[in-house]
Amino acid sequence: MKIVVAGTGYVGLVTGACHSEVGHYVTCVDIDQSKVEKMKKGISPIYEPGLDELLKKNHDAGRLDFTVDYKSAYKDADVVFIGVGTPEREDGSANLDYVFNVCAQIAENVEKDCLVVVKSTVPIGTNDKVEEFLQENAKNNVHIEVASNPEFLAQGTAVVDTLYAKRIVIGVESTNAENVLREVYERYNQPIVVTNRRSAEMIKYASNDFLALKISFMNEIANFCEIVGADVEDVAKGMSFDPRIGDKFLKAGIGYGGSCFPKDTKALHWLANDNGYELKTIKATIEVNQNQKYKLFRLAKQRFETLKGLKVAVLGLTFKPGTDDLREAPSIPNVRRLLDEGAEVVAYDPVGMDNFKRIFPSEIKYVNTPEETLKDADLAFIFTEWDEIKSLDLSVYANLMKTPIIFDGRNCYKITDTEKSQVEYHSVGRKAIL
Ligand code: NAD
Repeated sequence: MKIVVAGTGYVGLVTGACHSEVGHYVTCVDIDQSKVEKMKKGISPIYEPGLDELLKKNHDAGRLDFTVDYKSAYKDADVVFIGVGTPEREDGSANLDYVFNVCAQIAENVEKDCLVVVKSTVPIGTNDKVEEFLQENAKNNVHIEVASNPEFLAQGTAVVDTLYAKRIVIGVESTNAENVLREVYERYNQPIVVTNRRSAEMIKYASNDFLALKISFMNEIANFCEIVGADVEDVAKGMSFDPRIGDKFLKAGIGYGGSCFPKDTKALHWLANDNGYELKTIKATIEVNQNQKYKLFRLAKQRFETLKGLKVAVLGLTFKPGTDDLREAPSIPNVRRLLDEGAEVVAYDPVGMDNFKRIFPSEIKYVNTPEETLKDADLAFIFTEWDEIKSLDLSVYANLMKTPIIFDGRNCYKITDTEKSQVEYHSVGRKAIL
């Protein structure tokens, strides 16, 4: 079976690498020549733990190749996985241009019957449109079927999430499509959920939007905890023992970011509106998150008469630990606001600084350690809970900063520890330590 994967981002590349790891022959296609050259040398263009090793091992074993030559790749493919981006349009809907560009390239070049599998997150009904498009536009006399196979990996743990997935969702309209996908996935030995294509598409959005809802819910509870004198960390712990609630995604903070939750909540809300239905819980999820993002910035503005001329240490830039991805990271709009206020920003992140430099090339100063960031700072913001940042002893802030005032957007420290320290500490859903 010849497998081709279109798009070598977080989803496409991990999919390709893992399919080759379980023994399939895989060609990964991307339009970005520089990415392809890197991957051929066994270097991953994205930061994802364990990925470099998989790329090198399977490329050396001849099971995994990379190319920009999509014509040759699609010509004799048995299965093409589409893993290109579906970013947000200005109105909140999903932009499907990349998906349909790949479809046009497939239709133009495929010379034998094949199954096209949509891994990208797409609005309900898109797979039907993709199949129609491919069947209408196929240049050669071939039969192309389409299946939905949404992806559930999380950045930072993408390789493990794929090799040991909790479930594989397959949305099909024919036994042939189901059998081909079962053959692809039988080597993974994971539970397979088979549905029709529209349900599979909905499973992806419903799953992501439910997780985003859980985060926004806890953030609202956290905000209210502050008002009534409860501690959200204790509240979350107490809730977590109930198996109906579970212990994941109960962490309060300055909101979710990343390439998925923000756009997938907006896309589903948009789609519902377009179908004459208002998804009220999703609307609230989006609003709460938007407001939560600036919570600590607002607090800092109240705390200081002005931020103008103050040296602000920024710890953590990526939208979460374990990734170099900055898409929708709360650090970006917060840094922008700090600069607008005339603050002097010094930032550190273990892997995200190169990407941040593309957004703020010279407006802020970048340093190589958390300690350098804190030196002589008037205040510090924590935007990402990297281990390296969480494990910084509070005495480091007290010793290095001009005034050790911390605004912790990820609740990295125990309140009891901050009480014993010399720092002023503001976090989310807990009392301030002054
Ligand atoms: P990404 O932006 O990291 O990667 C997309 C890649 O596709 C880029 O390398 C780009 O150059 C390439 N590309 C664009 N047009 C192409 C073409 N015609 N042929 C070949 N390659 C092309 O995207 P991502 O984060 O991997 O997300 C991909 C999809 O998967 C999205 O729909 C997303 O919602 C979904 N998804 C993402 C995650 C995640 O954690 N990132 C998780 C689950 C699902």
